[in-house]
Amino acid sequence: MPDWIDTHCHLDAHEFDADRAAVVERARAVGVTRLVLPAVEVANFNAVRELAHVHGGAYALGIHPLYVEHAADADLDRLQDALRTHRSDPRLVAVGEIGLDHFVPGLDRARQERFYLAQLALARDAGLPVILHVRRSADALLKGLRRIGVPGGIAHAFNGSEVQAALFVSLGFRLGFGGAMTHERALQIRRLAATLPEQALVLETDAPDIPPHWLYRNAAQRGTEPQARNEPAELPRMAQTLAALRGWTLQHTAELTSANALQALPGLAR
Ligand SMILES: [Zn+2]
Repeated sequence: MPDWIDTHCHLDAHEFDADRAAVVERARAVGVTRLVLPAVEVANFNAVRELAHVHGGAYALGIHPLYVEHAADADLDRLQDALRTHRSDPRLVAVGEIGLDHFVPGLDRARQERFYLAQLALARDAGLPVILHVRRSADALLKGLRRIGVPGGIAHAFNGSEVQAALFVSLGFRLGFGGAMTHERALQIRRLAATLPEQALVLETDAPDIPPHWLYRNAAQRGTEPQARNEPAELPRMAQTLAALRGWTLQHTAELTSANALQALPGLAR
């Protein structure tokens, strides 16, 4: 059975409070042996670190763009302190989840930008890659990366154009694919998954979010049952979509995407 790495999983989310250990067990049972747990705000730094230690995963520390509105300026100092305190923790593999969200209306873009650039500088100074949240914001993110060079990372749940994808790759980034690519109508994402250089692809679930098509409930169905929860055990089935799009075996897909994840987040090899 192939070994898989879920490069983006919010295992600390409240959706997993009732059965977190069972979720990790189910993932292991299908070969998803490593999970990368990104933070979203200072308040969950300890949670992702502890979960990574308890379950043998890895974690990232950062302030997510959708949490910037409620973050204090001093949270950037707290991130800096946390990166220093845990500098020699082998399970700390990146700064993230950071980025820009230009999709959700009404957000303070200037404040997002300030937090993004400040966190890039912290990643650069710590010598860590970054895990990026990209939503209608690829060009602005790229501009920041050209100003403040970081040692690569992952553009997670990538949804930009082919030109933008190539620019991220040229800056040393891998692109994260997961539940979205399993939806047949996601033509652009499937085209990218099918045609990007193979070294650029990593797999992720973004659990509990971005359910694959077999878990997805449309608006009418959600009237009678809640949106289903995504979980890391779904990763190998998502990978079947990538394998089919590329004409690869599942074993090759696992080996390649795991090697790419190790390139993007070298700390995973520790
Ligand atoms: Zn995320």
